[in-house]
Amino acid sequence: MTRVFNFSAGPAVLPEEVLAQAKEEMLDWRGSGMSVMEMSHRGKEFMSIAEQADADLRELMGIPANYKVLFLQGGASLQFAMVPMNLLRGKAGADYVNTGAWSKKAISEAKRYGKVNVAATTEANKFTSAPAQAELALDPAAAYVHYTPNETIGGVEFPYVPETDDVPLVADMSSTILSRPVDVSRYGLIYAGAQKNIGPAGLTVVIVREDLVTEQVVDGTPVMLRYATHVPDGSMYNTPPTYAWYLAGLVFQWLKKKGGLAGMAEINRRKAERLYAAIDGSPFYKNPVEPSCRSWMNVPFTLANPDLDATFLAEAKKAGLVTLKGHRSVGGMRASIYNAMPEEGVQALIDFMADFEKRNG
Ligand code: PMP
Repeated sequence: MTRVFNFSAGPAVLPEEVLAQAKEEMLDWRGSGMSVMEMSHRGKEFMSIAEQADADLRELMGIPANYKVLFLQGGASLQFAMVPMNLLRGKAGADYVNTGAWSKKAISEAKRYGKVNVAATTEANKFTSAPAQAELALDPAAAYVHYTPNETIGGVEFPYVPETDDVPLVADMSSTILSRPVDVSRYGLIYAGAQKNIGPAGLTVVIVREDLVTEQVVDGTPVMLRYATHVPDGSMYNTPPTYAWYLAGLVFQWLKKKGGLAGMAEINRRKAERLYAAIDGSPFYKNPVEPSCRSWMNVPFTLANPDLDATFLAEAKKAGLVTLKGHRSVGGMRASIYNAMPEEGVQALIDFMADFEKRNG
């Protein structure tokens, strides 16, 4: 067996220990005589898996008791719609901060349901920074403030949590959740597609403050798209993505063994600092993002000569470093270095980059 270092932005690398455990338990989950995939979601075996995952995530993130955790489907993209459908609560509109491709998608979806006030945008600098708190033109009457703490494509991460006073803060944490400690009590709602830092695709985690779960939804909101449907049923109104939920639970236990989110933050900081230092220390590689807003999770970079991109990718692949191509909308390279990317993987990339530069710089 040869495992590569996979720098995919998502679906992304998972901890090898987790995959090994899933393999071990594949045919017979702990004496049940069946795979988790074959279990009734309402049976006592799966219920225990579901409850453990919920408890572990609560412990890892320090989620206060007045927040509900939902294990849903539809990806972060469905949350672009569910958030306005459920959180407008009769108000005219919401504030959105535009820091790149994913913010824009959230904004265009929200516009279907209400008025969007773009409280700040960094489009003028090609989305290479996050706006400062003082630059946010927030509307005190907004139903909520939505932002993207980490833009997966641009590699831009907010270095602070926006202050929104009494207006609930909503965060698309798809590509930063679990990478470092977060004060959940600052948020009204957090959502994340699982396929980066949580587990397999097909699962979406939503953490929502109880008082924001109401029946006051936009007219015509389907039952399945109401948080109020999923909360009382513990995300089991219909059949949840059971296997993805189980695997996410294994990842949560792996994270606890790694020292929780504080432990992960140390490792993630080290990985990111090393990679950015390698990029900044060379005239051959370049990252355009303002240093204080550089993502710990997604590191885009360009080569001095883009004609070498294809060679770089082909040689990297031969060296066991895969999925380094930048997003089709921006080109260049992107190394996603989520929790499950080991430090050796980042070091192998840095060594390869130095060698490639020596031969082609
Ligand atoms: N938001 C962010 C920040 C993302 O990175 C992505 C996926 N790359 C999405 C939303 C969309 O997620 P999904 O594919 O789960 O709908």
